[in-house]
Amino acid sequence: MTNDNGSRELGPEAGGTPSTGMSRRRFLRTSALAAGTAAIAGPAFKTVAADLVESDDGQVVGYTDTPMQPWAPEYHVHDPNRPWPPEIDPGELCCPGEISQGPPSDAIVLFDGEDTSAFEPHEWRVEDGVLVAHGDDIVTRESFGDCQLHIEWMAPDPPRGDRFDRGNSGVFFMNNYELQIFDSYSDKVFADGIAGAIYGQTPPLTHPMRPPGEWNVFDCVFTAPVFNGNSVEQPATLTLHWNGVLAHYNTIIHGPVAHRGINQYSPHPPELPLMIQEHSNPVRFRNIWIRRLDIKDRAAV
Ligand code: MG
Repeated sequence: MTNDNGSRELGPEAGGTPSTGMSRRRFLRTSALAAGTAAIAGPAFKTVAADLVESDDGQVVGYTDTPMQPWAPEYHVHDPNRPWPPEIDPGELCCPGEISQGPPSDAIVLFDGEDTSAFEPHEWRVEDGVLVAHGDDIVTRESFGDCQLHIEWMAPDPPRGDRFDRGNSGVFFMNNYELQIFDSYSDKVFADGIAGAIYGQTPPLTHPMRPPGEWNVFDCVFTAPVFNGNSVEQPATLTLHWNGVLAHYNTIIHGPVAHRGINQYSPHPPELPLMIQEHSNPVRFRNIWIRRLDIKDRAAV
């Protein structure tokens, strides 16, 4: 189980604080990978007390003892009072028993329903053509920077996981930047932790989630951060179509994922592996493919 930087019992990104046992080893391994040979710059965590609180209307849980977000200064990280985006019905998947879009000819297929050799050795299971999260995170053998990613996922049915850790997974671009996967169809968690959120930073524009037991489709365009020495010259960005609905448009990613805190950018290689999170929930995946991009002019994205 990976570490999004919060401790196991704290919240949806449990897997936690890199303080003990496997979690700490995992964090150090991930961090070292992310940083290449460079040292991690700056404090990685600003974690404080661990009390989940309810929103003013009692409908959502989150934290109010976390830092304020410089990019959304009226909200704490994981603020329960941050409004959710509109919840909409994305319409029906054309062919529920089939994949929605096969890989184009220039794609690198990461999972085709059978072969998982694009990933480092892992414990995930293939069941009836579906890849099921199990044991630990799954990491690609190849590295990627700018990319287009297609991935289909299904939250466990019936819902699985503690209320604040329900159907948790996530796509970690460059092993650092998390696009959240979560059963936010069944669970009202803080807006920057719902499915489609850039975890701990920015909720999606809308929440067109299909319920547990149905397939959700993420089509992503990710641009890698560009560094100039120890500073970030261009931050990473994400555009996301979720079930065909625009959920992010060139959204700035403000640094590596953090749970209950804010992480600063730290220089890393231009390409790093893609990771899919295991979070003790049997989230299911199919039809995963990726295309390398080389986007020079970020303003034109
Ligand atoms: Mg996650």
